[in-house]
Order: sequence, then structure tokens, then C-alpha cells
Amino acid sequence: MKTRRQFITLVPIAAAASVLAACGDKPAPAPAPVAAPAPPPAAPAPAPEPAPTAAAPAAAPAADVGSMAMVDPADPAAVALGYVAVASQADKEKFKTYADGQACSNCVLFGGQAGDESGLCPLFAGKKVSAKGWCSAYVKKTG
Ligand code: SF4
Repeated sequence: MKTRRQFITLVPIAAAASVLAACGDKPAPAPAPVAAPAPPPAAPAPAPEPAPTAAAPAAAPAADVGSMAMVDPADPAAVALGYVAVASQADKEKFKTYADGQACSNCVLFGGQAGDESGLCPLFAGKKVSAKGWCSAYVKKTG
């Protein structure tokens, strides 16, 4: 060592070397990568609406049902199902499944209560069917 400047430069290096030697000469582990921040939690998916079933026809609040229009038997969907507002007027030639006594009021899909003149039917969303009506999708209510 020839100069004071060389001494000052070498002392910290020597100190660092002795510290490394005390640690077993193993290189320091690489710093752990910083994890990316987690994305914000997704908004919960809305619960699916239960599909209407034969056992539990869809029902809307009573206030809404009262203001709904009746199904027009001339509506293409009604014609396709053979819907009539008076069951006895069903086209018995075309719809052989019709039998006396069948009516919306005793169909499992009828959403009205006993004694109601009309009620919802899931086959005609947003409209009411007559309790005395009928269509070819009729299924007798049991129980
Ligand atoms: Fe609906 Fe047809 Fe049943 Fe009437 S008979 S409630 S229109 S499925």
C-alpha cells in the first residue's frame, strides 16, 4: 500500500469481504419479485332467475298482473298453441288432446289463484290468459 488514498479505498472492500466470509461466501439471495397487486374482486354475478317449471309457474306481483293485457287468440304464438279464451271453443280437430273440463284454471302452468278470472302463463310472457281458456300445452294440475 503506497498511498493513503489506496488505504481508504481498500478498507471498506476488506470489511465487506470479511462479512461475506462470515456468511459462508454465499451470494445474497436475489430479492423476491414484487408481486403484482391483485386485481379487484369481480362483482358477484347476478343470481340466475329460476326457470319456470310445470310445478311452479312464474308469478308476478299482483299489482303488475292486474294491469297486464290479455293474450289475443289471434296472436301468432297463441294461434300456434291453439289458445282460445273459452276452452270449449278449442279446435278439437286440430288439437286432439283437448278434453271437456280442461281449462287454464286447472292447468299446472296457470299462475292465477283459484277463483281468478285470469292469470299469468309462462307460455305468454307479459300477458294474462283467461281462466276459462285453453291451449294445446295444457297439463292437468294435480293436488
Ligand atoms: Fe297456459 Fe295453455 Fe295451460 Fe292455459 S292451458 S295455462 S294457456 S299452458
